[in-house]
Amino acid sequence: MSHPPVTGPGDGTRAVHAGLPAPRPGKPALPGPVFAAHYHLPGDPADATYGYGRNANPTWTALETALAALESPDQEAHAVVFASGMAATSAVLFTQLRAGDTAVLPTDGYHGTSGLIPRLEAFGIRVTTVPTGGPRQYAALDGARLLWTESPSNPGLDVCDLAALADAAHAHGALLAVDNTLATPLGQRPLELGADFSMASGTKALSGHGDLLLGYVVTRDAQAAEALRGWRAAIGAIPGPMETWLAHRSLATLQLRVDRQASNALAVATALRARPEVTGLRHPGLPDDPAHALATRQMRRFGCVVSFTLPDRDTAERFLAALRIVDNATSFGGVRSTAERRARWGGDDVPEGFIRLSVGIEDAADLVADLTAALDHATG
Ligand SMILES: *Cc1c(COP(=O)(O)O)cnc(C)c1O
Repeated sequence: MSHPPVTGPGDGTRAVHAGLPAPRPGKPALPGPVFAAHYHLPGDPADATYGYGRNANPTWTALETALAALESPDQEAHAVVFASGMAATSAVLFTQLRAGDTAVLPTDGYHGTSGLIPRLEAFGIRVTTVPTGGPRQYAALDGARLLWTESPSNPGLDVCDLAALADAAHAHGALLAVDNTLATPLGQRPLELGADFSMASGTKALSGHGDLLLGYVVTRDAQAAEALRGWRAAIGAIPGPMETWLAHRSLATLQLRVDRQASNALAVATALRARPEVTGLRHPGLPDDPAHALATRQMRRFGCVVSFTLPDRDTAERFLAALRIVDNATSFGGVRSTAERRARWGGDDVPEGFIRLSVGIEDAADLVADLTAALDHATG
């Protein structure tokens, strides 16, 4: 059964319907997870879509259809889901790079991505690292095969011009891969800005409930997608059907969650700006944030993360301990607000008092009251 094409539906409509099969009487709107290690498979396996569970699964196919539609609504694209964001990141790097190639990675991006540097180098891949903001990414493109960027970067929240970077990378014969975790496909669509790969951790705002790990890559290059699927099957970095299905189910509320998170984040950031003990406050949605003008050009929503620095480690720890609504926990993008002292992990180049706050979907006034009371307690 087919429907006439709908032209230009809004983000909420697209998120609700993404990846759903055509309606069929007696069938559910979103079919449940398929738990199968193997499938009935007579004859030539090449003729079958589903044969063995490490190669393909119909629950993956549904979520992949949804993610391709959200990341690239107007042009065909291929999504490949993975067991985690890191599985997705390493799949792009290890399928695209060979010994002797140079990759450019951010100095201020997700620490797990920089954690791959010695592993890339062990395979003869050269790695240059540059900050997300400013001109250094452009200068590093000479001789590079792939530029990996994260915009907004986690946890520093710098933003770079993805369309300009894509042009510059392509002029140098390099590929551009963008970590789109923080923005989600409703916040930013890197492929439309010229990127070759949009990768994200579905663990964060995409699934949004803090109850699963997942990752994905979307590309318009069919051959690159085939290489990603081959890599996933070869190393077995496959998502479970339950996680995949939960992530797909969560997409229906993606627009509600990211809109609420973005408006709450702006309210919280505005309240924090009035506090003398808060320095280095960043949120791309703040009109006076250094990244705001650029973020407004390429993003449709500014995300849930607010970062700032308290005077020292002790103040930061007293602040976190005094929070009553905001959980002291890592990760971000969930419906429940979380905050953490990022330096406790040792992997980010941040001051001891640096706080990464992920704003959830609670009431803005309650969050502002909780954060303000905790600051009073920590500094009083
Ligand atoms: C969390 C995160 C990752 C890694 O994702 P996992 O699902 O934890 O493997 C990659 N990039 C960014 C920006 C992240 O925040």
